Amino acid sequence: MFKAILIDKGETGHVATLTELDDARLPEGDVIVRIEYSTVNYKDGLLITGRIPLIRKFPMVPGIDFAGTVEQSDHPDWAPGDRVVLNGWGVGEGHWGGLAQRARVRGEWLVRLPEAFTPRQAMAIGTAGYAAMLCVMTLERHGIGPEDGDILVTGASGGVGSVAIALLSRLGYRVVAATGRPAEADYLKALGAAEIIDRAALANPGEPMQAERWAGAIDTAGSHTLVNVCAAVRYGGAVAATGLAQGLDFPATVLPFVLRNLALYGVDSVMAPQKLRQRAWERLAQDLDAAKLESMIREVGLSEVIGLAPEILAGRVRGRLVVDMRK
Ligand code: NDP
Repeated sequence: MFKAILIDKGETGHVATLTELDDARLPEGDVIVRIEYSTVNYKDGLLITGRIPLIRKFPMVPGIDFAGTVEQSDHPDWAPGDRVVLNGWGVGEGHWGGLAQRARVRGEWLVRLPEAFTPRQAMAIGTAGYAAMLCVMTLERHGIGPEDGDILVTGASGGVGSVAIALLSRLGYRVVAATGRPAEADYLKALGAAEIIDRAALANPGEPMQAERWAGAIDTAGSHTLVNVCAAVRYGGAVAATGLAQGLDFPATVLPFVLRNLALYGVDSVMAPQKLRQRAWERLAQDLDAAKLESMIREVGLSEVIGLAPEILAGRVRGRLVVDMRK
């Protein structure tokens, strides 16, 4: 038996409960993992509350990522005792996920836990931090270096934002953090933000072309925020768009693209190819400051997760929620 959060369809929406399940109920797969840590990402908030209907079959164990130890394997790449991380691949949406003490998954979805990280640190990074790394790598691939100017990070106090700031500042970039929580200014500066701006300045419809302010940007908000960011990135710059914390819409004009040679990159972590994931985890091991990562962590037990789902959607969670499966 193992503990898990289970989501079922009720008459008025999702019903999430903390329950005990028999191993025999684990879904198909060739590797069984004892999960040590998981995390609550923004998407986990969506899965648990059902605010956006992402679950493809019920009942579902949510949790889009986990870190743990292989217990049993029929996959050639994995043996009992191997330490692994899983991000995405539809886990938690179409296949039982990480908010449980056990998971059975496909071996090709797993990444070896880098030696630099404990399972707890890997989940402090989680899908949010791994997506932040993919965003940083996207700006680098575009050719933006620290000498080119400031990088804007929106949703700064959240998971993606916090890790992105820590990574960019370590790499020598000057980081501007857009936040709706001025009270978190000291936290953001300690992570490496050189300047803090109020996210309200980006939240409403603005001019299609604005003064050039940033060499590049990482956006977690979408909607008007992303449009305003695009309107103020310098000639030849780039935006890595990865989130929808403000909204799914993108009410933009083509002007920044055709007049400023702007590149807008979508960054998806869920279906990212295995090679890119491995590279992202290697880069996290190399470029993420362990003390800064520690400052982002709030550790919680599995029994607290259901109550925290609406909190993360409301933007009230700072940094990263790490779930200790023993609690
Ligand atoms: P968090 O909830 O940790 O952070 C989101 C942050 O966005 C909040 O902390 C808040 O920061 C800001 N925010 C909240 N509401 C608004 C709003 N109305 N307008 C502008 N900013 C807002 O979430 P994550 O960091 O885990 O994820 C951020 C986004 O990225 C989510 O939409 C998530 O789904 C997406 N994502 C996408 C991935 C992919 O593969 N494409 C992978 C991981 C995440 P502050 O208070 O500082 O303003």
